[in-house]
Amino acid sequence: MSAENPITSPTPEPTNAPGRAEMPVDGRSGADVASGSNHYISWGARSDVGLVRSHNEDSFLLRTPLFAVCDGMGGHAAGEVASSIAVETIAATAPSNADDALLGAAIESANLAVIKGAEDGRGKPGMGCTASAVLIDGNRMAVAHVGDSRVYLLHHGTLVRVTRDHSYVEELVDAGQITADEARTHPSRSIITRALGSDPDMYADHFTLEVVNGDRVIVCSDGLSSMVPDSEIEALATSSATPQQAADNLVSAALTAGGADNVTVVVVDVMNDGVADATRQRLLRRALHNFGAVAIVLVAVFALVLYIARTGWYLAPNGDTVGIYEGSPSDFNGIDSSELVETTTVEVSDLPAAVQDQLSRGIVMNSEQEAHETVESYRDQIDADKAKAGQTAEEVKAEAGDTATEPTGAEGEAAAATDGTTTDGTAADGTTDATTTTEGGNQ
Ligand code: MG
Repeated sequence: MSAENPITSPTPEPTNAPGRAEMPVDGRSGADVASGSNHYISWGARSDVGLVRSHNEDSFLLRTPLFAVCDGMGGHAAGEVASSIAVETIAATAPSNADDALLGAAIESANLAVIKGAEDGRGKPGMGCTASAVLIDGNRMAVAHVGDSRVYLLHHGTLVRVTRDHSYVEELVDAGQITADEARTHPSRSIITRALGSDPDMYADHFTLEVVNGDRVIVCSDGLSSMVPDSEIEALATSSATPQQAADNLVSAALTAGGADNVTVVVVDVMNDGVADATRQRLLRRALHNFGAVAIVLVAVFALVLYIARTGWYLAPNGDTVGIYEGSPSDFNGIDSSELVETTTVEVSDLPAAVQDQLSRGIVMNSEQEAHETVESYRDQIDADKAKAGQTAEEVKAEAGDTATEPTGAEGEAAAATDGTTTDGTAADGTTDATTTTEGGNQ
């Protein structure tokens, strides 16, 4: 955008924000930042007020893997507010993957936010800004763009501008009326045909590119592109070892060329050639394959053990009676591996205490037939015991009856006493009967 202020700050005070992708930073935007997720990117950035302007209206966003530059317009306390609102909104609404349509929608949301900011008194009416944003996800780079800030791609030493300026001079170039280099110094170069902050229906250009290992992405305000020809940008970008050095060298070149505008440069190096992704995916597939194989084996072993555990038979209590179970009386890793097959009428309490104790732990049988035979033996034993017990009772009863017809002991004595005779031959009246006295017989 054009210079609108007198030279009041001949000594620039750059606001650098160098760092790695793992250290997301936003440039004086106050935008919300979050931790990055793409570890195959290295970046550097520098923003400078330039040698003409009194303040820097550019804002930039470094939120890995999202990067953006917004060039504000509208004068002091307006342009920087517009660009700050824009990067805040882009940061808040951008997608997490390389979806260029959603990235364009984020810029369109930023447009509405800038308009609303002016209406709400944040900044000034008429403020606006450009917006150029990239989001690198693996080998895909989503690009969304409005205005005359630019995105360049340095690929194999060749610089390619991937965005088209929304400017009057760009239209002249497209019409063949001027060259690109003439556009850079054209008197009307500051006239932009699309920007954030005025038209609610404004839309963003957006597309996706493939990027490969070694590619260098440059996002910049026109403070660079209007001051430094693309050929020099290409040379500096190619010769700079790191993204930060590239950003520094490019900003320095803009200042050397006059620094007529705020200049902001964000440089991102792509270090993912796809091999890393392919390797990671291959390892992931292998891990999943191995895990699947191990899981299958474990399931098979588990099923086999469970099958073996459930192929046996045993007897155990089922409530008050003896039950016939299929399986094992022991749990298999906490899993009950048995099933009640039959409930018998054999009462556990009718069995000997030793058998009851064995039943409580489960008595393993070799077969279902053996289980049934054992239950029948229990039943026979119980019946025999009961029969024996009943016979014994009858015998006791019968013996008790015999004793009643032939009294002995005390009963005989009582009967004799009623006859007036004692067992010792002493008569009730105190006389002695020699014929019934056993002791007297010996005398
Ligand atoms: Mg500018």
